[in-house]
Formats: sequence, structure tokens, C-alpha cells
Amino acid sequence: MKVAVFSCKPYDKRTLTSAALNTPLALHFFESRLSLETVSLVKNFDAVSCFVNDDINAEVIHLLKEQGVKCIALRCAGFNNVDLEAAKLHEIKVFHVPDYSPTSVAEHAVALIMSLNRKTHRAYHRVKEGNFALEGLLGFNLQGKVVGCIGTGRIGAAFCRIMKGFGCEVLCYDLYPAPELVDLGCKYLSLDELYQRSDIISLHCPLTTSTHHLIDEKSLKKMKSGVMIINTSRGALVNAQAAIDALYSQKIGYLGLDVYEQENAIFFEDMSSHIIQDSVFQLMLTFPNVVVTGHQGYFTDEALNHIAETTIANLTLQTSVESHSRQLA
Ligand code: NAD
Repeated sequence: MKVAVFSCKPYDKRTLTSAALNTPLALHFFESRLSLETVSLVKNFDAVSCFVNDDINAEVIHLLKEQGVKCIALRCAGFNNVDLEAAKLHEIKVFHVPDYSPTSVAEHAVALIMSLNRKTHRAYHRVKEGNFALEGLLGFNLQGKVVGCIGTGRIGAAFCRIMKGFGCEVLCYDLYPAPELVDLGCKYLSLDELYQRSDIISLHCPLTTSTHHLIDEKSLKKMKSGVMIINTSRGALVNAQAAIDALYSQKIGYLGLDVYEQENAIFFEDMSSHIIQDSVFQLMLTFPNVVVTGHQGYFTDEALNHIAETTIANLTLQTSVESHSRQLA
């Protein structure tokens, strides 16, 4: 079975090759993303494997079908970049890796909170230059602070558990409340109440039509002045221009982003010698109270190995397993 692996970095190649040993899979690695521009690389492949920023729209799926592709194995949890209806129509199975390591993303959200609060990103550079002055590095205790978690699925729940450990009051919003979090002492309430009461708001819901630009001018108005916003979910949950306006007005006191709406053109590549053609992103980087990481929430040893093993299992089993918990379409 021939598999075209797109968006493949050296670390993906290492873990996937190792996981595919002793399987009937022949993996062919492509550095480029799968999109309308690159779909012509798929000739006589049985399956493709993709990542978060590949653009698997209806047209791409139609062309994959023409090449005999029977399966799309995503190496990520989110699947907002795949037209599932089109895949169903063309009888192409779609798999994802739903729970490769909720802990890794939850811990990264906490890392962003800690950096923004204790300003380690700024302290690191100061100390390197022999500047040991503390002015400007003042933080606050997390204990007793109110933390709002929007989306309490696998990652959100892991995040809530960590924040409870810090002694925070944890408020939650989800369409489907999790009883185990209520048992832990977390409180579900309306989105508006969560906005009004939270010192820190962390986003862990998927990107859907109803969550697109969840954080915008209107929702920001309902929040506390100086609120900390953390987004490790999907970039388009936050309207970046509204966030910039709120940083200027100091409505947002701290902003931690691991994802960005237009990250497709920037993330996962070394752009250090390029002029980034995105003035909103460039402006965002100039604020001292903004920390941006390049979609690395998932990037731990444990998660990479789990992603590789599940992807190989999805590809290997897909011909014999009709109903599969990781199958989306
Ligand atoms: P999950 O499916 O386990 O949980 C998502 C939760 O969001 C569910 O409980 C669902 O009911 C809830 N939800 C759906 N719509 C909602 C809405 N409108 N308002 C509030 N809650 C809503 O998913 P997960 O594994 O916890 O992942 C969450 C998101 O994290 C993914 O969708 C993905 O975009 C993102 N993610 C990011 C990284 C990274 O590296 N930064 C890695 C993996 C996943």
C-alpha cells in the first residue's frame, strides 16, 4: 500500500518510518503541504497522510479520488481543514488522531500562562545581557485566580486539572459539561459569566462556524480589563485585529498564542531570513505582553510517537475495519 505523506518534517519521517517497520505500507515523504497546487504529486497512491495546515478541500478530494486514493490519514486531532462531506461523497475514509497527548497541549497552554505572568521570555534576554534589574518583570500568584476554560474535551479537561492544582478557581464552558470536572470542583456556567469573571481565559474548543472569531470586539467587551487570553486550539478562534485593538486599549493584559489564523503562510518553516508579509502578525510580535509560539503545543516526544503509531494503525487497519473510533468519514 503506497502512502504519500505530506507536510513531512525530519522528525515526522523518523517516527513514521520506525512505526511502519514490519507493515505492508510504503511511505513516500513530501515536505510540501497537500493543496490544490501540490495534489499533482499524488499519482498511483492508495492513501495520503496530512497535517494541520494542508488544505484538503472538495476540489483536492475530487482529484485524490481520480488518483485512486481511498484513505486520508490526518496526523492531528483537528479536522477543520478537510471537507468531510466531499470525502464521504467520494467514499474516501478519513482518520485522525484524536487523543495523542492532551497533556502536551494542556501543559503548553500552562507554559504560555507562566511565561506571560512571570515574564521569563523577557527575563531570559535581560540576564543574557547582564541586566538583572527586576522593574517590568512583576508577576502575580496564580493561586486564587479565576481561570476560564472554553471547551472541556480531552485537552481542556487536562488543562482544568492542572489549573486546579495551582489552586485556581476554574470556570468552564462547553456544550457538553464533563461530570468528572464538576466532581473536581470546576464550575460550568454561561459563556458571558465566564467572560465576566475570568482573570485568564484559555481556548480548547474546536474551530467550527460557531466558534470562528469567538474572541472578537463583542466578547472582549464582556471581559475583565487586563484579562489574559491563551489560544492553543485554532488560530481563527481569535480575531487578531480585535486582539490588537484590545492590547492597545489594555483590555487584554496578556496574550499567549500557539496558533494564528494566517499561520499557513508562516508556521513550521524557518522564516528568519524572510520578510513576513503579514502586518497584523508582525504588529502582534511587537507587544511585550504577547508570547507567540509556532503551533508547538503538540510537540513532545510522547505525542510524536503516539501520532506516528496511530497514523500507521489507521492506514494499516483501514481496509479491514469498517467502523473505527478514529474514522471521521
Ligand atoms: P475534544 O474534541 O476532545 O474537545 C473539544 C471540546 O470542545 C468538546 O468537549 C466539545 O463539546 C467542545 N466544543 C465544541 N464546540 C464548542 C463550542 N461552540 N463552545 C464550547 N465548547 C465547544 O478536542 P481536544 O482533543 O481537546 O482538542 C481541542 C482542540 O485543540 C482541537 O480542536 C484542536 O483544534 C486543538 N489542538 C491544538 C494542538 C496544538 O498543537 N496547539 C494540538 C492538538 C489539538
